[in-house]
Amino acid sequence: MRVLLAGILASALSLGMVVAGGASAGAAPDSDRAAPLEGRLILLDPGHQLGNSNPRFARQMAQKRFNGTTVKGCNTTGTATNAGFPEATFTWRVALRLKQLLEDEGATVEMTRSSNSRDVWGPCVWDRAKQANRIGADAMISIHADGSSPGNRGFFVLAPGVVKGWTEDVVKPGRRLASSMIEGMTRAGAPASNYIADQLMISTNTTGLNFSNVPTVTVELGNMRNASDARRMSSRSGQRDYAAWLLAGLQHYFSRG
Ligand SMILES: [Zn+2]
Repeated sequence: MRVLLAGILASALSLGMVVAGGASAGAAPDSDRAAPLEGRLILLDPGHQLGNSNPRFARQMAQKRFNGTTVKGCNTTGTATNAGFPEATFTWRVALRLKQLLEDEGATVEMTRSSNSRDVWGPCVWDRAKQANRIGADAMISIHADGSSPGNRGFFVLAPGVVKGWTEDVVKPGRRLASSMIEGMTRAGAPASNYIADQLMISTNTTGLNFSNVPTVTVELGNMRNASDARRMSSRSGQRDYAAWLLAGLQHYFSRG
């Protein structure tokens, strides 16, 4: 694939030179720059929301639902770095950047939230999943960061496990999406988890995964309580790296058909 792309690029460049040199009588061909994600509908789900910690929204946050395994809450505040950089802001920035990268590749991208604000709460995790179901997303990626022991670092992926009557439809596609994300992200240079075996955690108790009817995974990009992950997560260039790694995972997934 890489060779093929290089070939296309090389011929596009030589064509450009001919046109620029005035030797070509015809018009330059339409820009048919490869749009490998054309026709793909992706729902990006930046975890949490800044207002989830706002006491004003305690009542909304106290909503509960049975998720097929246990009764769990609407949403949580998320974690933060030791310096206080919130997970909600990290996931929001990475999602915005990733949206742009995906759209550059031709994908249609929707988001589960349209702001990152202390004055906004939620949406509840079950409503985020229902959005994916409603729009018929080809993939839903929930973007999170862990708040684990300081020595733990690197990314891992949560995929849905079997919950009778709930997840039979998404277990296989979810596993395929998870393995593609792990492979694509690792190849692109994303630091692997040093505390989750094979970077894969099968979960039967993640509400968003259980409510989903489309291929969906949660990506824990790193550990906000680890100094080196926190440094990367807090910087704009690091946030761009995370977005690029997620893009690589999705590209790998869709390139497999
Ligand atoms: Zn989270």
